[in-house]
Amino acid sequence: MTSYLTANDRPGQHPRSWYADTAGPMPDHPALAGEARADVCVVGGGYAGLSAALHLAERGYSVVLLEANRIGWGASGRNGGQLGTGPRQDIRAYEAKIGRDDARKVWDIAIAANRLVRELIARHGIDCNLTDGGLEAAWKPGHATEMAEYADHVSRHYGRDDLKVIDRAAMADWLGTGRYHGGLYEGMYAHLHPLRLALGIGHAAAAAGARLHELSRVTRVSPGRVETEDGAVTADHVILAMNGYLDGLVPAVQARSMPINNFIAVTEPLGQDRAAQIIKGPYAVSDTKFVLNYYRMTPDHRLLWGGGESYGARFPSDIAGLVRSKMLEIFPQLSDAALTHAWGGTLAITAPRMPIFQRVDPQTLAISGWSGSGIHMATMGGLIAAEAIAGQSERWDAMARLPIPAFPGGEWFRAPLLALAMTWYSLRDRL
Ligand SMILES: Cc1cc2nc3c(=O)[nH]c(=O)nc-3n(C[C@H](O)[C@H](O)[C@H](O)COP(=O)(O)OP(=O)(O)OC[C@H]3O[C@@H](n4cnc5c(N)ncnc54)[C@H](O)[C@@H]3O)c2cc1C
Repeated sequence: MTSYLTANDRPGQHPRSWYADTAGPMPDHPALAGEARADVCVVGGGYAGLSAALHLAERGYSVVLLEANRIGWGASGRNGGQLGTGPRQDIRAYEAKIGRDDARKVWDIAIAANRLVRELIARHGIDCNLTDGGLEAAWKPGHATEMAEYADHVSRHYGRDDLKVIDRAAMADWLGTGRYHGGLYEGMYAHLHPLRLALGIGHAAAAAGARLHELSRVTRVSPGRVETEDGAVTADHVILAMNGYLDGLVPAVQARSMPINNFIAVTEPLGQDRAAQIIKGPYAVSDTKFVLNYYRMTPDHRLLWGGGESYGARFPSDIAGLVRSKMLEIFPQLSDAALTHAWGGTLAITAPRMPIFQRVDPQTLAISGWSGSGIHMATMGGLIAAEAIAGQSERWDAMARLPIPAFPGGEWFRAPLLALAMTWYSLRDRL
């Protein structure tokens, strides 16, 4: 099986991205060498693992975190930077599947997740360009109707008061395109520099006493023991937070999640005036295409565009071309704008697009499957895993009850089956 950890990137180095170019200092952490002992060993240095390490160290636990590459190397250092609000899946789907009471628990956790990220940024002085506001754009007329119904539902039942439904004519004013049929503005939504956020949480975790090790790829996990090529950690508890890069290391988790790749490109600086003709305000945008587009302006007025997906470990050879075609479909007026950066990343999805909180054995917790909504939910997942280890398992239990089936098709056929299903749904966008 081709490894997602090594298929596209140089081991131990951040991929070339606009984020890596603008991240600022990235302190090195030594590789694990020899035997170590800790209360908790965390595997994975993205938001989930770093947040777990931080919150455990703050509670007085001794923590060793093992990261195969660099802190923030995975999806946490490469994503669209859009800080979501509720759960990834429409709350009405949760209500239908798990009932109103449990849906309310998930809702509260997802809203608290947005606040947690804001709190960490404020408390630890993380300089990551946090900017408020998000606009969801309806690709089809029916999507605009659904958005208005959703806004009404969550305002009435969950007390959301930051939503504003935008009609088609107004949308063409908020964005420099007439392609959308309406939209929904969310005041709690935000965007930020994702790699700086990961590095900032990592810095806070180290300052709280967690021992971070980079270039320390875990090769074997067993209850209470984690091994790398050059060392091993014996621990009372293990937290697995590898998300899309799990690479078959823990089959029980792998069966319920699927790695998929997503791509981003960044234009040259457009200048303030031209940028405002594309996106009028400081908000981030995402649309409702099945393979969605998500985009926003950087502080230096570049358009950062996410779009396009692939299945299987290897990225396509022309990522810039793939993303450019998505961008020009919405904003053909940018045909002369050069792209200066393009990169890909891998995330994990689950069939119902709900996250995985799984007790693999009495000593091992796994958190993953954020399904594209990881900035707030993975950060919260780390806190919830830390709470569970500290004996407060109410939020863990609520999330662990979510029904996440295995992907159909078994080890060999699930990836091709998913590719087929995704192609079918994305074809429907064109109808
Ligand atoms: C292109 C892209 C755009 C996205 N856009 C958004 C967005 O705008 N908003 C949003 O909320 N979410 C977005 N996401 C999703 C979000 O980035 C992820 O859900 C989130 O970062 C997951 O965090 P994590 O800590 O679980 O995993 P990751 O950040 O992927 O971290 C996992 C880490 O585990 C390490 N690892 C794996 N295996 C091993 C091993 N054997 N030994 C040691 N270490 C190992 C990896 O090196 C990696 O650093 C996007 C994802 C991608 C790829």
